[in-house]
Amino acid sequence: MGFLQDRKALIVGLASNRSIAWGIARAMHNQGATLAMTYQNERLAERVHKLGSQLDCELFMPCDLGNDTEITNAFESLSQHWGALDIIVHSAAFAPREELEGDYVDAVSRDGFRISHDISAYSFAALAKAARPMMKNRSGALLTLTYLGSSRAVPNYNVMGPAKASLESNVRYMARSLGHDNIRVNAISAGPIKTLAAAGIANFRKFLEHVEHNSPLKRNVTIEEVGNTAAFLCSDLASGITGEIVHVDAGYNIAGMDLG
Ligand code: NAD
Repeated sequence: MGFLQDRKALIVGLASNRSIAWGIARAMHNQGATLAMTYQNERLAERVHKLGSQLDCELFMPCDLGNDTEITNAFESLSQHWGALDIIVHSAAFAPREELEGDYVDAVSRDGFRISHDISAYSFAALAKAARPMMKNRSGALLTLTYLGSSRAVPNYNVMGPAKASLESNVRYMARSLGHDNIRVNAISAGPIKTLAAAGIANFRKFLEHVEHNSPLKRNVTIEEVGNTAAFLCSDLASGITGEIVHVDAGYNIAGMDLG
């Protein structure tokens, strides 16, 4: 029996079989969780249905994280279908592509800043707000995905850095708030992984090369490694952990100077 047996998990942020959400959904399914999934728009609907069906996903719902009505409707469907919910995985982020290259101050704009914070940070709290009644006192867990660019200035990551800093602060405030209902909130700070979202960051290939050469493990991480950590963090095995940012990055964040 898996350590997520009989747990009901909503996966937000699946776009392809390279998505971090796919690694997480598979790990949770392997540990016995029952899944529901959202897709951002009709363009992704068929792909998400095909992937989710491989994991016996019970429910598929449209949910653009920038749209409050779609968020409300998704949780109404979930409430009708399941009644209760144990886990939410928020594995989505967005910034306009033109902001993810070049000099930060030259590239950043009021609109780009607003949109990236709205979709990448606020939306996590929006999901919690909608889900709270269904998750109360079931020792549930919320999880989001962040990146080291929140606390270090990384080339081309630009406005996603401040958005991820906001998301990480959100994790701490949400953990404090939802702790009253015995709901835990954590984030995984993943090392760079080649996904559709990552392809939008200029020179992303160099991120991968840099981590391979400079991380303690001398390699990059996989969606399976992130998935296994996510399954653990959302299970009762992690019942004492909340408000944390857990790095799954081959140790890159702790490395100092490398003398070769
Ligand atoms: P991905 O492209 O597979 O997933 C990104 C998802 O965000 C997609 O499913 C997309 O539909 C969704 N999304 C974007 N805007 C949305 C909106 N308005 N409404 C609903 N969904 C929306 O890429 P990924 O790398 O798996 O990204 C997942 C998360 O992991 C993101 O938060 C990303 O910042 C984070 N992350 C990625 C890396 C990496 O190197 N790939 C590293 C650390 C953290």
